[in-house]
Amino acid sequence: PRRRTRKHDHIINRDDLDTHAVEIVRTLQGAGFEAYLVGGCVRDLLCNKKPKDFDVATSAKPIEVKALFRRSRLIGRRFPIAHVRSGRELIEVSTFRQAQHDDIETNEHGLIMKDTAYGTAVDDAFRRDFTINALYYDVESHEIIDYVGGIEDIVNKRLRFIGDPADRLAEDPVRMLRAIRFAAKLGFRIDDNIMALVDDTAERLDAIPGARLFDEFLKLFLSGYGEAAWQLLSATPLAHSLFPSCDPSSKMVRAAMRNTDQRIAADQPVTPGFLIAVLLWADFAARSSEANPENKAGLVYDIASDTLAVQQQHIAIPRRFSTFAREVWQLQPRLIARQPKNIRRILSHKRFRAAFDFLCLRGAEDEKLAELGRWWETLQTLDSDEQQAMIDALP
Ligand code: ATP
Ligand code: MG
Repeated sequence: PRRRTRKHDHIINRDDLDTHAVEIVRTLQGAGFEAYLVGGCVRDLLCNKKPKDFDVATSAKPIEVKALFRRSRLIGRRFPIAHVRSGRELIEVSTFRQAQHDDIETNEHGLIMKDTAYGTAVDDAFRRDFTINALYYDVESHEIIDYVGGIEDIVNKRLRFIGDPADRLAEDPVRMLRAIRFAAKLGFRIDDNIMALVDDTAERLDAIPGARLFDEFLKLFLSGYGEAAWQLLSATPLAHSLFPSCDPSSKMVRAAMRNTDQRIAADQPVTPGFLIAVLLWADFAARSSEANPENKAGLVYDIASDTLAVQQQHIAIPRRFSTFAREVWQLQPRLIARQPKNIRRILSHKRFRAAFDFLCLRGAEDEKLAELGRWWETLQTLDSDEQQAMIDALP
């Protein structure tokens, strides 16, 4: 492989670099190791996006990294990497390693189980997923080192795997979700030869641990470009693999994704619990209406549990978020019934705000619900006496 550096065409502004990450690179270089900024941060800077975090790649072994930085520790089961604290930040420092080697452990599906063989910067570039994620930035010379044609793909806005897409997806089908995520975030086009493998890959996601899929779910939908990610995902069988009970063409899901993006852009808090509630709502509602209409609170609880249990077989939803979704659902009939004696208790319920937002989303397709939403909206703006007047005026 050739080492191509483009010193002048693609310049990264030094002011955009994270001083802590640069400091770590310099310390490693000062100790005689090779070290670069790598991966998402280089990609994002070249795309004029603000990097989420800065990663460092180095020839130093994890133990050597640990010895150099007092505030560091080694983490990772599949392969050890160092977490170095600098100021308030946590920088990931990973050692150059190879993708393929003779004693690589794969399971019967070709999934990588364990790979810890170290290597050179070139080896390290070739084990990465997409060409645009395999760029190395030398903070001393300001060169971008490109072994895989990543700069050209950034210029052309293309997502291409390093190597054969079928092999790379067999090793790790989550890479297909990563393709969708980067395409959504950067507005890039995913290569046709990757998309041709989407059906096959959707099936393989079943073999991925639910906890890893939850992490990927967060990155897809709670990073500020969830609507675009959902648009791409819902045009493929991947949406069904992740959320089997959700209708990919649901307007409500799309609207919720858009709201979430807007909240993130406005620095407002977001929770995955809300999106879970939206994604599974149709299934929960269908199960509820099939059940005995006389049903009482306990039964609603069980229906919520059944709905969530089906989803848990695909994505491991931490309990606090499934509880959040359940509470939002449970409040829906109470918001609609508007029992005068319950109104104040509903208003002070810790999920009232989320349940109210949820009702408003439902209202986009149902004028009666929209009207109820407006009633609750007004109620919140009033003082206690005025609220009482509104409650007294209820039929
Ligand atoms: P962001 O942090 O913005 O989500 P990123 O590209 O930094 O994007 P990370 O998950 O932080 O993504 O991974 C850092 C780098 O590690 C990637 O840029 C890529 O080079 C490599 N990498 C991550 N996950 C994989 C994977 N599943 N297969 C191959 N390489 C990967
Ligand atoms: Mg990253």
